[in-house]
Amino acid sequence: MELADLVISGATVETMTGRPTRADAVAVRGGRIVAVGERRDVEALAGPATRTIALGGETLLPGFQDAHVHPIHGGLSATQCALHDLDDARAYAKRIAAYAAAHPDREWISGSGWAMWAFPGGNPGRAALDAIVPDRPVVLASRDGHSAWVNSRALELAGITAATPDPVDGRIERDANGEPAGTLHEGAANLVEVLIPTPTAGDLDAALAEAQRHLHSLGITAWQDAWVRAAELAAYRRAVAEERLTMRVVAAQLWENGRGLEQIAGLLHERETPVAAPTDRFRADSVKFFVDGIIENGTALMTEPYLDGDSNPTTNLGIPMVPPNELRAAVSELDRLGFQCHFHAIGDGGIRLALDAIEGALAANGRTDGRHHIAHIELIHPADIRRFAAIGATANMQPLWAAHDDQMRDLRIPVLGPLRTAWQYPFGSLLRSGARLAGGSDWTVSSPNPLLEMEVAVTRVDTDARDSPPFLPDERLSLDAALAAFTIGSAYVNHLDQLTGTLEVGKAADMVVLDRNLRSPDAGPIGDARVVLTLAAGTEVFSG
Ligand SMILES: [Zn+2]
Repeated sequence: MELADLVISGATVETMTGRPTRADAVAVRGGRIVAVGERRDVEALAGPATRTIALGGETLLPGFQDAHVHPIHGGLSATQCALHDLDDARAYAKRIAAYAAAHPDREWISGSGWAMWAFPGGNPGRAALDAIVPDRPVVLASRDGHSAWVNSRALELAGITAATPDPVDGRIERDANGEPAGTLHEGAANLVEVLIPTPTAGDLDAALAEAQRHLHSLGITAWQDAWVRAAELAAYRRAVAEERLTMRVVAAQLWENGRGLEQIAGLLHERETPVAAPTDRFRADSVKFFVDGIIENGTALMTEPYLDGDSNPTTNLGIPMVPPNELRAAVSELDRLGFQCHFHAIGDGGIRLALDAIEGALAANGRTDGRHHIAHIELIHPADIRRFAAIGATANMQPLWAAHDDQMRDLRIPVLGPLRTAWQYPFGSLLRSGARLAGGSDWTVSSPNPLLEMEVAVTRVDTDARDSPPFLPDERLSLDAALAAFTIGSAYVNHLDQLTGTLEVGKAADMVVLDRNLRSPDAGPIGDARVVLTLAAGTEVFSG
């Protein structure tokens, strides 16, 4: 009998296999799980050289997997002007002024993290920035990444004036005289962002290292990077070659709107580019489509027009970011080539386009193993719920948003109206319809802590106001369903379910230990639980 490298016993083991298993111990050898079961059987594998960890009933789970996250961006924003932890315009102004003063040699002041609810109509103005930084260009992405707040110098350098038309995939917010007001939505932000000096390879390497450290500390052992281009792919390959990558990574290559099907050759080239070491940690076989924008700035695609905030209909249906014909053709071709399609789709019209495209691929190619998934799924037309299971589309949910918070009250309910308000984040309905669920954070849009996300999936209550009533309580998930989404559910979309996602003999020892038993009656809110140990292929990558 070969002895184990590591035995953890006394745990409340959540195997996530879906089968009842009597287990309070797990043994690991050579990075793999070699036993899951009862303590007296598993402890027999412990020898003098075996590391043993004796727990007092704390939860032991498969490592969490984030199915939609922007880790390199998250790591980079830690070195830029970061506003994520602040909530009002005055605090932003102080932070921006302090950052500009501390970085006199930066030609551009760039950063991210302001919240739309901090400004009237969700649109900050350039005058507020001009008062703080008049001489250097400032560009600050919103927390959701769909809008940019810029000062006059940035507008001047980009040549944006009253005469500049809105680009096809975005909108320049304007004042009463038609002058650019200081907020640029969606593709309009690119007019300025292309001018910002790009991060160096060293910047990207540091950002990836920071993201990996941070997400391991939250129990995450695999992620799907929801937006990469050549520079980020190169950073991942360097990390593999230099044996710095302990996370399992699936990269979703960005589908660039406006470049058409010709870009598929480039996507294939990146997918097939070898990495310097044999690895099961990195693949670039997913493709990310932006089907639409977001509800809060009126760019998510709707089947019926938005309201104006006073319950009157408008003519605005949002913006289809990819022409529907191109989307259908691209998804069928990518599916045929063995790619996965990962959709950003938020409005009921956008989600319908994504479902139509997957359905088209199914009709053209039959059932492939693409495991296409639709992320965000904020507003699903009730007639489309059952289509997810029917065509095998996974619902990739970001549950932290499914609560009645300020953004919901001020920027969503008024423009949706009561009927559509009740169609939001229908996770329970999706599950009951037989759909697969995966979980993700969309960090840096919101917290990457999966325990907070799972709390809201279970409670539908804002974690900052835990005594408030649940939002659409029929759409709550059980703890089991929430845990499954963030483990085996996301492992499925990452094509990692044969190797990870459950605790079973033969699988990789990607595991997380919490500071409590989540099933205990006095466990407290799920989001208050802390990770105390994260293992990646049996190697300790975080302990706290
Ligand atoms: Zn995203």
